[in-house]
Amino acid sequence: MIIAVDGPAASGKGTIARALASHYGLPYLDTGLLYRAVAVALKRAGGNPDDADDALKAAAFPDDLLNDPELRLEESGALASRVSAHPGVRAALLARQRTFAQQPGGAVLDGRDIGTVIVPDADAKLYVTASAQVRAERRAKEMESRGLKADRDAMQAEIEARDARDMGRDSAPLMQASDAALLDSSDLTIEQALAQAIALVEAQV
Ligand code: C5P
Repeated sequence: MIIAVDGPAASGKGTIARALASHYGLPYLDTGLLYRAVAVALKRAGGNPDDADDALKAAAFPDDLLNDPELRLEESGALASRVSAHPGVRAALLARQRTFAQQPGGAVLDGRDIGTVIVPDADAKLYVTASAQVRAERRAKEMESRGLKADRDAMQAEIEARDARDMGRDSAPLMQASDAALLDSSDLTIEQALAQAIALVEAQV
């Protein structure tokens, strides 16, 4: 069974995808990490994120970069959203994602274009979202739990800018696939969102 989970930044799609993978005993791929690795490789090489050739060179990053904690930083996510707009970068990462999705037994992948481009014939598709305000609040709480200071307004502005870039690009923009089930987690606890995610998958398979 292949499960595609898409949605905007900080929507909870990663938590939901990981929980679905564990519930169904499937391997899980966070595809955002691949774009974050391109971003960090480009930054270390001193490249220009808006230059297609620089970004494409960075798409040949070494595999061990995927474990680098720098990938998890907010600024790496923002830079990833710029390098991911280049069609060449998306093409360079496509085969790897499809091969993962099509392994025997299936898989769970989360990202922005899993249900629309990577595996349009996935057995189940979810589009996970939440209001920008709720997403900013969740990110802020997560940072505060790590002892960091969080500016909620700045965070919401950053989330909205990332949404606009991811939804507005020409190449594989973020959108809900026509056959994806919508899960708005704005007013749900994690437990409620997970229960709903499983019910939505069950209804599709
Ligand atoms: O999901 P995450 O926040 O880690 O993704 C970082 C950025 O990578 C996103 O803002 C998006 O621009 C890009 N991305 C993408 N396609 C995916 C996954 C992530 O374009 N499948």
